[in-house]
Amino acid sequence: MENAMAELIAPTERTRLKRLPDRGAFERETVNAILDEGLVCHMGFVHDEQPFVIPTTYARIDDGLYVHGSAASRTLRTLRGELPVCITVTLLDGLVLARSAFHHSMNYRSVVLLGAAAEVTEPDEKLRALEAVVEHMAPGRWAEVRPPTVQEMKGTMVLRLPIAEASAKIRRGGPIDDAEDMTWPCWAGHVPVRLTALAPVPASTVLPGFPAPAGVNPYVEDYA
Ligand SMILES: Cc1cc2nc3c(=O)[nH]c(=O)nc-3n(C[C@H](O)[C@H](O)[C@H](O)COP(=O)(O)OP(=O)(O)OC[C@H]3O[C@@H](n4cnc5c(N)ncnc54)[C@H](O)[C@@H]3O)c2cc1C
Repeated sequence: MENAMAELIAPTERTRLKRLPDRGAFERETVNAILDEGLVCHMGFVHDEQPFVIPTTYARIDDGLYVHGSAASRTLRTLRGELPVCITVTLLDGLVLARSAFHHSMNYRSVVLLGAAAEVTEPDEKLRALEAVVEHMAPGRWAEVRPPTVQEMKGTMVLRLPIAEASAKIRRGGPIDDAEDMTWPCWAGHVPVRLTALAPVPASTVLPGFPAPAGVNPYVEDYA
């Protein structure tokens, strides 16, 4: 029943999965969870007939995905003209080692987001977006650091893409081997993979009495 209540991002002809549609997910909650866990997105667009796919960081606020960068950025200046863009986020969850070369695969959760981005010029929204980008990386960090100056705000461009046309795709579990390969003499299974940060390395100039922020802990293994 819970699923019946889930808000769906309506599939369109462009986002409906044709390949392995069972792996598709259109619940807004699922899409948001993948976007919130990812740290890097890839922005694909065509400029002067040449496709580019540019990696960058991002943050989500409600139904908007925000990217930021230098006001001189070719990518951002191109995209603010509401050029069609495709943004993807991929979480790699595992390596799937099948008995045949053919059936090797990966476990993942990924989102494909289509649309057009618009420049955020309203000062409060722009500041909230920049805060979200910093908080996405290390929760609690915004309150600790020097806020941006007027000059830094001027030199920074922020774009917002509505999360309105999007799909998620998820693969989980082990290999799907052909029945006739089940006796092939090799190991088969999957190797879970996750992103792990190591212990933070303080800058040599850090003032005494300032430990690494607790906000990075979710990525850090065995870090107390
Ligand atoms: C880490 C990783 C490794 C992969 N390795 C392979 C591989 O080696 N070979 C391979 O063929 N495929 C691989 N895939 C799956 C790949 O992303 C595509 O889903 C698949 O190739 C089908 O592409 P298509 O254009 O035919 O899909 P279609 O089903 O025709 O795509 C239609 C729409 O479905 C949605 N969609 C498709 N794929 C995704 C996705 N991954 N996430 C969210 N929405 C999606 C998009 O909105 C797209 O416009 C991998 C995916 C990930 C994340």
